[in-house]
Amino acid sequence: MDLRNCAKCNRIFAYVGNDLCSRCAKNHEDDFKKVKDYLYDNPGATITEVSKETGVEKKQILRYLRESRIEIREEDNLLLDCERCGKSIRIGRFCEQCIAEMQKEFNSVLKPQKRGTEVKDPGKHRTRMYTAEMRRKFK
Ligand SMILES: [Zn+2]
Ligand SMILES: [Zn+2]
Repeated sequence: MDLRNCAKCNRIFAYVGNDLCSRCAKNHEDDFKKVKDYLYDNPGATITEVSKETGVEKKQILRYLRESRIEIREEDNLLLDCERCGKSIRIGRFCEQCIAEMQKEFNSVLKPQKRGTEVKDPGKHRTRMYTAEMRRKFK
C-alpha cells in the first residue's frame, strides 16, 4: 500500500491517485458543489460574492475555474481578475487591454525597426489569442 501525507491536512492516507485524503477530497467536492450551485442560481456573480456566500476560499474558486471544472458560458460567466492590472475579465488570465499591450511590447522588443507595420488588425489578433486560450482551457 502506498501511504502518503494529505496535501491539505497532512494526515497519512492510502494513496489512490489523489493528493487528498478521503475526508479532504470529500470537502473539496462539497465546496465545488456549493460553488457550482451558487453559480447556477446566480449566474454572473463575481468571485468575491461567491466566496462570501459559499465560504469557499477565493483561491479555491479560481482553481476550479482555471481547471475548467466550472462550466463557463459565453454570456453569464464568473468574473476573473486580470493578473496584470486587476480589472475584471471574463476568461483567462489577462484583460483584452493588457493582452494588446503585452503584444505591443513583445512586438516592439522583437522587431523595433518595423514599428509601423505590425498589428494591422488588433481586433483580429485578439480573437485569435482568445480562441487559443479557449482551446487550451477546454481541452
Ligand atoms: Zn486531508
Ligand atoms: Zn489587465
